[in-house]
Amino acid sequence: METHVNTTQLLRFGPLKGANANVRLTGPCTDTAEFWLILQDGMITDAKATSDGCKNSIRACCTVADLVVGKSEKDARNLTVQDVLKVLGEYPESSIHCIELALNTMRATLDDGHARHSSAFDELEQLPKPLPRTEEAQTIMVMSGKGGVGKSTVAVNLAVSLASFGYRVGLIDVDLHGPSIPTMLNLHDVQVLSDGQGKMQPVVLGDLFGLQVISLGFLLEHDDDPVIWRGPLKHSLIGQFLNDVDWQDVDFLIVDCPPGTGDEPLSVVQQNKHKGKALLVTTPQDVATADVSRSINFCKQLELPIVGIVENMSGFECPYCHRNTPIFKTGGGKNLADEYSIPFLGSIPIESAVGISTDAGLPIVQRAPESASARGYRSASIAVVKNLTLTRSES
Ligand code: ADP
Repeated sequence: METHVNTTQLLRFGPLKGANANVRLTGPCTDTAEFWLILQDGMITDAKATSDGCKNSIRACCTVADLVVGKSEKDARNLTVQDVLKVLGEYPESSIHCIELALNTMRATLDDGHARHSSAFDELEQLPKPLPRTEEAQTIMVMSGKGGVGKSTVAVNLAVSLASFGYRVGLIDVDLHGPSIPTMLNLHDVQVLSDGQGKMQPVVLGDLFGLQVISLGFLLEHDDDPVIWRGPLKHSLIGQFLNDVDWQDVDFLIVDCPPGTGDEPLSVVQQNKHKGKALLVTTPQDVATADVSRSINFCKQLELPIVGIVENMSGFECPYCHRNTPIFKTGGGKNLADEYSIPFLGSIPIESAVGISTDAGLPIVQRAPESASARGYRSASIAVVKNLTLTRSES
């Protein structure tokens, strides 16, 4: 079918200078659509779009861009295929999917505008002013009932977020049988040095706000060396990490514990000279939350206060349309927090960018600070600061 091209609509062919929202999506037909919007006070003041698809795809994108200009974000979101068809007039049935792609891309671009608006700077406004300091180093033990729930990822992103707020932060990896912190921070072939008194020097990461790090991984000759240790040796090394590292005036010591309630977290509690609290990581499913109940009881028995629960892998954040799909039952972390009267620190979606960041050795809060997961890790970190009573005045 020969289609009529409206030249006014084609004036909406992007890119758009000064856009404050921009998303490119690939549809099921493999065509790509891209939108640029200027958003101001809930209104769309300008819009442009492109597509690398056929003429119909370009018409659909430019028409949607033309339709949304001057509309409120809400009205733009509610536009339907029928609304677009009314403007397009003659349009082949076989290309309706191009209109759907154009509408989805426009809505994703609105989401992008919101993500940018609630940027790191806005979130930082939520922190108490002036930033409360700690009286002495405050240990936060990051624990989970079982492995693979993202405990180390939470520990690393919490440590980097707190450091980015201006705190002095140390990160200790006591996951002695599977130290993953060196990989997550791209710290391979790192040598640990001692000072004159035999104290270990932490690795200081200038690119990550001066974060200080120590891990068993730094003491192994090769990354894949197996660690076969007896309890007393583990106990002694954990004591050294806590108390015999030359931590430089830290506010927080974030301790990445192995999963479960075994020897290592017990060793941390027994030997920690600083104030300590636990942060529990769970996924939304019941099995993981049953496991975390055990961690809660462990903390109760050892009189270790709990700063809160983080629900990681909470729904799937689509990298294309940025919508969250609850692929598992959600709300397990919040329910657990309510049941035990523990603060709920927030939920973080499953996002492929997190795995990519882990592999790249740069935490997501630094690598993609505007991503949904980075915002989740940062806002959980803000909740940690708010839930602790920190009192030291700035020196
Ligand atoms: P744990 O310390 O509980 O064993 P990790 O932090 O090592 O878990 O995470 C296990 C895997 O899951 C890693 O590959 C990590 O990149 C990935 N992961 C963790 N959190 C998320 C998330 N929110 N979205 C996507 N992948 C995640």
